[in-house]
Amino acid sequence: MLSRRIKSIDTTALKRVLDLISAGDIISFAGGVPSVETFPLGELKNILAEVSEIPQAFQYGPSEGIPELREELSKYMKERWSAKVDLGDIIVTHGSQQGIDVVGRALIDPGDVVLVEAPTYFVALNTFQVYEPKFVQVRVDEEGIVTEDLEVIIRNMNGRVKILYTVPTFQNPTGTTLSEDRRKHLVELAEEYNFYIVEDNPYGDINYSGRKIKAIKAFSSDRVIYLGSFSKIFAPGFRIAWMAVPHDLYERFLVAKQTADVCTNTFGQYAAALFLKKGLLDDQVKRIVEYYRPKRDTMLDALEDYMPESVTWTRPEGGMFVWTTVEGMNTDELLKKAVERGVAYVPGSVFYALNPRSDQMRLNFTFESIDRIQDGIKVLASLVKELS
Ligand code: PMP
Repeated sequence: MLSRRIKSIDTTALKRVLDLISAGDIISFAGGVPSVETFPLGELKNILAEVSEIPQAFQYGPSEGIPELREELSKYMKERWSAKVDLGDIIVTHGSQQGIDVVGRALIDPGDVVLVEAPTYFVALNTFQVYEPKFVQVRVDEEGIVTEDLEVIIRNMNGRVKILYTVPTFQNPTGTTLSEDRRKHLVELAEEYNFYIVEDNPYGDINYSGRKIKAIKAFSSDRVIYLGSFSKIFAPGFRIAWMAVPHDLYERFLVAKQTADVCTNTFGQYAAALFLKKGLLDDQVKRIVEYYRPKRDTMLDALEDYMPESVTWTRPEGGMFVWTTVEGMNTDELLKKAVERGVAYVPGSVFYALNPRSDQMRLNFTFESIDRIQDGIKVLASLVKELS
């Protein structure tokens, strides 16, 4: 009785991994969730008391989101990401996960070409898959998606592309960041070949270097669908995120959102709006960055100290992940042995839409303590040495 669409989504590889890594007491480099220690519980206590005095916070709200929050988001987009976004072009969503789904619902017909990074955030692949696209993947190097390759691919397809989905800043899974030259090149390509760039940016504020980065959205308002989220910098449980949409798509995108859930959780929207209005986000982001930075450094140092020469890895300027390549080894096989010794990671193969590479792994450094990060990398390194 199930639909063809939902039956066709293959999550068996993912389920196998999740079953493995949720087994018992394990040093987990597998997750991508923020640490609960970073949640601003003190500030939230006051804010939630204030919100509970507002009857409208418990009522249905506008499908596009409450104006108080959209106004704050418009300011944030300008100050933080140099992107001019009118509050009338913002839709508040349940997580950027819903933003990805709205893009699929509103833009993808079966067989439409969706360009994705290789590797990319695998849940986005599953979400798009519901709308039966044809995935075409483009290589990522240490400066993000290789736009020269992208240009060749599009030319060879006679320009039949609808969407490019990218996580350009502190990418999940590689931790790499798209250079500014390539951001501009992407926009040129989108204009020339008439496609939309979906810029998914949930990690952008977790910036350890302090280098100012402009969103792709800063270089084009009408070619970029920007997805922002409070999950990694506020509290994911509220499920508050937003999309900044090219003006001519806005009305139909709103239909796609409205037909899914009418409106986003109003209580959470008021809480987020107050958090921003009171100017608390800057300090919160600083706290998170200071909390995660030593963990990132510990992981990079431990990799340097313990891994054999055959292993290479990225050095992320921000975000939550280090991407590691273990030459000549199958990381799906290695995972079973690693879990037996009490360490988990996500094997790289799940992050590819097509032709997965088998010798990579994603290591999260934000979840475990400094001591356990060191211990976990030591275990992985000795396993790699034993098996090479
Ligand atoms: N995009 C990327 C790249 C992510 O890593 C995540 C969360 N892991 C999401 C979107 C979804 O985040 P949200 O909680 O905002 O739905």
